[in-house]
Amino acid sequence: MATERTLAMIKPDAVKLNVLGEVFSAIEGAGLRPVALKRVRLSRPQAEGFYAVHRDRPFFNDLTAFMTEGPAVIMVLEGENAISVWRGLLGATNPADAEDGTLRKRFGASIQCNGFHGSDATDTAGFEISHMFGGVEIAD
Ligand code: ATP
Ligand code: MG
Repeated sequence: MATERTLAMIKPDAVKLNVLGEVFSAIEGAGLRPVALKRVRLSRPQAEGFYAVHRDRPFFNDLTAFMTEGPAVIMVLEGENAISVWRGLLGATNPADAEDGTLRKRFGASIQCNGFHGSDATDTAGFEISHMFGGVEIAD
């Protein structure tokens, strides 16, 4: 077991649903702790940089448009195995395939508008955290 940090995002579609309390309940219930938190509307370049790994995918244009259409809530979560624990709370990428009770099953609408993001490995978590937060914004 290792204490990790992950970049977690409530995407614009889920921010619109006004379910922050439900999301924080799940985070707290899993033993994770937010150590940085903000609500921001990403610019197109910020969204493109964040999802640069997907720039050659056919859905890249639509995805980055969706990610900039309203404010997102962006967090750094810390805890034991935070990366896999948070992804477990999210469920499968496509809400239709996500397990009952997961956040994407409960609040996601489609494979694109799936409500939430979570880093998938320690190196991508490191990149995503530094893309979204400056050092003084993270306080453990
Ligand atoms: P995320 O990185 O957002 O946590 P993920 O790791 O489960 O999600 P990825 O394969 O990294 O899934 O895809 C990144 C995001 O791109 C997805 O969360 C979703 O919003 C969007 N996406 C993925 N596949 C498709 C698709 N086939 N069509 C449209 N959008 C997609
Ligand atoms: Mg991903």
